[in-house]
Amino acid sequence: MAPREVDYLLIGGGLASANCARWLREEGADGSVVVVGREPDPPYNRPDCSKGYLRGEESREEPLFRPNEWWGEQDIELLTRTSATAFDAVARSAKLSNGDEMTAGKVLLATGSNVRRLNVPGCDLEGIFYLRTLANADSIRAGTEDAERVVLIGGSYIGCEVAASLTKLGKRCTIVMQEKATLERGFGAQAGTFFQGLLEEHGVTVHGEDELERFEGDGHVARVITRAGLQLDADAVVIGAGVTPDIALAKRAGLQIGERGGVCCSSRLESSLVRIEHWDVAFNQGKTAALNMLGKDVPHAEVPYFFSDLADWGGLEYVGPAFDWDEEVVRGSPGDASFTIWYVQGGRVRAALTVGRSDDLDHARRLISSGAQLGDEKSSLGDLDADLASVAAGAQ
Ligand SMILES: Cc1cc2nc3c(=O)[nH]c(=O)nc-3n(C[C@H](O)[C@H](O)[C@H](O)COP(=O)(O)OP(=O)(O)OC[C@H]3O[C@@H](n4cnc5c(N)ncnc54)[C@H](O)[C@@H]3O)c2cc1C
Repeated sequence: MAPREVDYLLIGGGLASANCARWLREEGADGSVVVVGREPDPPYNRPDCSKGYLRGEESREEPLFRPNEWWGEQDIELLTRTSATAFDAVARSAKLSNGDEMTAGKVLLATGSNVRRLNVPGCDLEGIFYLRTLANADSIRAGTEDAERVVLIGGSYIGCEVAASLTKLGKRCTIVMQEKATLERGFGAQAGTFFQGLLEEHGVTVHGEDELERFEGDGHVARVITRAGLQLDADAVVIGAGVTPDIALAKRAGLQIGERGGVCCSSRLESSLVRIEHWDVAFNQGKTAALNMLGKDVPHAEVPYFFSDLADWGGLEYVGPAFDWDEEVVRGSPGDASFTIWYVQGGRVRAALTVGRSDDLDHARRLISSGAQLGDEKSSLGDLDADLASVAAGAQ
């Protein structure tokens, strides 16, 4: 059978694809738009999976990108429970798990990431969970309902957010992680120590500079054994050990993979979509991809933004990212839970994290995108009385 011809084929059923489909229609694309997603659910906001939805505060509909009827109203064909099993970048054609084959005028590859699994002894025991999807959140809720003690493996944002959510649900949570302080890998020791303090204040136990060695139990997990020799009783375990970009299709199609594991593409996001691991980045890159599919020739200029909430105890906002920095300048006071950390490398602001001072991030965006070399302005970043607008303007 000849492949079906469509105008826009969006592979991946996450936020990036969904927002790309939305912007195609908003900007007047009148051709056929098909979104192909492996999951049973229509596109949704994953952040809810470790926050309100996990705590049972949100219905199943609340995290959805758009209500179910929206897709039909927009004349967007949404194929759930369907995988693209092969992709030919030259012919712009894809084979689907339902047996269809499609060729398209434009293709978006937005296959997102998969959780990194830890293959240690006992990893197949019942009661051990990962979190990526709404269905995973359902399993964690069901699997921890009668649990008293939950161990979280990993001190990054999944481990910390789930620890906060499950503590709110009355569980005794313990985090085991390689880092010295929670969230330290992405945001440094000062921010990490602040967030760890917040978790501990609310009853979460944290074991840093340690590592999972194995799980023990008879059919169901009962204990977590760490490299340092801790034996932690556990009625359930949630693992948040990072993600790996899902580049299987892209690799087989011969697309070039970059050094951070995503697919290489131009500033117009042509060739395909880079790996996206922040909600806001997926959202904005989906939009930029749509505009460029429509020939609008817009570079992707957004400075990536990230947020994380520890239940209603506190949260962070961040623009960057900085993978390396040689200095942290602090504005405000962690003691008052109102501060911004500027991550500076070679005299240039690479990233900024804030707790309770969101307005600072507008200035951070300007400083990051201009790449301005800071002179005397650098000390003003840490001065609460300094006017950040003039600091940013002065450093242009
Ligand atoms: C629990 C959780 C909490 C989070 N919280 C935050 C937060 O607080 N703040 C923040 O900024 N970010 C957060 N994130 C990250 C954010 O949600 C992701 O960065 C975002 O979902 C990425 O969107 P995406 O569309 O690029 O990829 P994904 O969401 O990974 O979507 C890709 C989709 O494509 C599907 N797919 C893959 N291959 C194929 C194929 N061959 N055929 C068909 N379908 C395929 C996948 O199954 C998946 O459904 C969180 C993530 C998780 C898991």
